[in-house]
Formats: sequence, structure tokens, C-alpha cells
Amino acid sequence: MASITLNNIVKKYDDGFPAVNDVSLDIADGEFVILVGPSGCGKSTLLRMIVGLEDITSGDMMIDGRRVNEADPKERNLAMVFQNYALYPHLTVFENIAFPLRLAKLSNSEVDQKVREASALLELDDHLDRKPANLSGGQRQRVAMGRAIVREADAFLFDEPLSNLDAKLRGQMRAEISQLQRRLGVTSVYVTHDQTEAMTLGDRVAVLKKGVLQQVASPRELYEQPANLFVAGFIGSPSMNFLPATHKETAEGHVLSSPIGDIPIPQDKAAAALGREIVLIGLRPEFFEDASMLDDAKRAQGSVFPSTISHVEWLGHEQYGYIDYEQDERVADRLTALAQELDADELRPQVVATLSAESLARPGQPLDLWVDTSRMHIFDPETGDNLT
Ligand code: ATP
Repeated sequence: MASITLNNIVKKYDDGFPAVNDVSLDIADGEFVILVGPSGCGKSTLLRMIVGLEDITSGDMMIDGRRVNEADPKERNLAMVFQNYALYPHLTVFENIAFPLRLAKLSNSEVDQKVREASALLELDDHLDRKPANLSGGQRQRVAMGRAIVREADAFLFDEPLSNLDAKLRGQMRAEISQLQRRLGVTSVYVTHDQTEAMTLGDRVAVLKKGVLQQVASPRELYEQPANLFVAGFIGSPSMNFLPATHKETAEGHVLSSPIGDIPIPQDKAAAALGREIVLIGLRPEFFEDASMLDDAKRAQGSVFPSTISHVEWLGHEQYGYIDYEQDERVADRLTALAQELDADELRPQVVATLSAESLARPGQPLDLWVDTSRMHIFDPETGDNLT
């Protein structure tokens, strides 16, 4: 197994635009790191540079401390697991797993031993005579990983392996890959544009935007302490709500005037807004609740705002309540800039609130909306940095 280190890696294609721009990342031996970001952010390019399928424009790529910029893919001894698993339909499971060993001209007895060891580990022993068409999606994935295991690759590199599967199978496969990776303890780098996969699979997640690394952190840290607007908006579903707000000082203390009402700034966040006239408040949908669902103690932890729900989506275990807010001109500007920052087409002047399934909130009716303001984030509207 191996550690993988990227030092100031840059990739420019022929057009000269940096598809990967000064990325530095340390992947420890045995670690499972996810590269995530929207389409075109450079994650596949980065993976292909690690494995040696793409030239590196500048920077150093190290495997176990050895510089491999010019090394051939074969010398790097990394195994790529692709989207379509790249299985041979006419070969049995045994022969599919054995394929790299046959290429390496191992003796029949060695091939047999290695394939049987790998298939025992992958619980494929009972299916060795089957063809890929007669396997479940999960089993096919395991065959693809079996091939990487028999090669005794130092690391597994996954390029969106689940993106062609339906949602249910994707969920199962996610669990399977995660368990297997932990069992094998093999260094793994996994590319996806799906934030749920990123959050559930990895030890650490590297978020990329337009070739630039935004934050590398554990899933929990990304969720609780996003470094900037982009990461905050990308991680979490539905996405974090961003509200333009002006800062004012009142007799009661510092307050942020937002389109849903005046929000008192919690003591530990006061410094974030100091000296700034306009900020962006970040509130995840799950920080909200129908105030009538809460006991007094819980209510007192946050603030309550009178509001009107415009639309409700009932999901069974919870509901999403949508609250439109008035858009003044300054807010319109901010929302356009914010949409660009988040790589989104447009942002509506709207808040999404997660309400409990029992809430009787109905469109057009008044609702006392509770917000856990102690968890709010405050962002610099110019730089996008999280100030809290
Ligand atoms: P996706 O999720 O859509 O696969 P990605 O994050 O993996 O996207 P890359 O495929 O790495 O992104 O592409 C990064 C950028 O580099 C994009 O702007 C893309 O158009 C450009 N690019 C990728 N491959 C080439 C190439 N062979 N020649 C020129 N430009 C390329």
C-alpha cells in the first residue's frame, strides 16, 4: 500500500486554461479520500494524473515519497476501477479476476491461488463460474475490485463507479465499497460529483471548484464548518440557505437584518460581522422548524419569525416548507453574484425549511418559523469566506 502526495499540481490542456490549478493534497497510506465537485471542476483530470494517464504540466506527484511525474502507469502500480467496471462479458468471474495475472504470465497454480484468495475476501467464491451478465450490480463491482486486488495494487482509484446505477443500487453499492475499503485497508481515491457519496464514503473529502481545491476535511467538518460559500452550498441537501443581511447595533446588541427578520448575533459569532455593513447569513434547512412543534426550552435556543409558507413538500418523515421573501435591489445583485459563486444557474429569493412531518403548515397560512440561530454561518459577500 502507498501514500500519495500531490505538490502544487497544475494541468493545462492545449487551450492553456488550468483544468487543475495548484492542487496540493496528502493522502495517507490506507486512507479513503473523495474528490468531489461539479462537472468540469477537474476531478477526473486529477485522478488520471495520479494514475499516469495524463501528463502533469507542473508540480510533483509522489507515491510513497517517490516522484512519479514521468513514471509509466505500470510502474505506479495503481488500479483504476471504472464506471462500467470494464468486465469482459464472455469471460467467467474467475477469468475476469484472473485477467491481469494471465497478462503477467503467472503459472496456473499461482493464478488459481490468488483468484481464490481474492474471491473469498469478496464473497464471490460461489459465483466463479458465472458470466458478468448473470451477476448483480454489486457482484460486478466486486469482480472489478477483485481484479485490482489480485494485482496487489498499492492503491485503488475509482472514477464515478456508481454513476450509471439507479438510486437504490447506488445506495447498496456505496455501503459495499465503503465496507470493503475498510476491510482491505487499501489507499483509495474516489471521484464523484455526488455529495451524498462523498459524505458517506470517505475518511476525508476534497472539494474542487474550477480546478482549485476549496477545502479538504472530514465529512463532518465540511458540513459543520465549511470554509466558504461554495463548499457550504455544495455540501448538504437541500442546500444551505443564504440570506443577504445588514449589520446593525441596537440597545440589545448586534443584530443582522435579514429578509426573514432581525436575527440577534450569538455572542460567539459577534466578531464575524464587526466592521461589515453587509454579510451573507448561511442557514441550513435543518436549522429551521415549525415553532409550534417545539417545547419552550428548545424555542428559547433560537429565534422565531412570523412567516408565510408558499409551498410544502411532504416526504413522509419530514416536510420541506418554502418561504419566499421580498427581493430588494441590493439583494438581487447579491443573489446574482452568489449564484455565480455557487456555480448555479439562478438563486431564487426563497428559504427552504425542514419541518417535522407532524407540522400543519399549509401554503398561504401564517407560520411561526423557528431558526436555530446559534448554528448560523456568516460569510463575507465579497470573498465568500466563512467568517464564523
Ligand atoms: P465531469 O464530472 O464532467 O467528468 P470533471 O470534474 O471530471 O468533470 P475534467 O474532466 O477533469 O472535469 O475536466 C476539467 C476541465 O478540463 C474541463 O473544463 C474540461 O473541459 C477540460 N478538459 C478535460 N479533458 C480535456 C482534454 N483532453 N482537452 C482539453 N480540455 C480538457
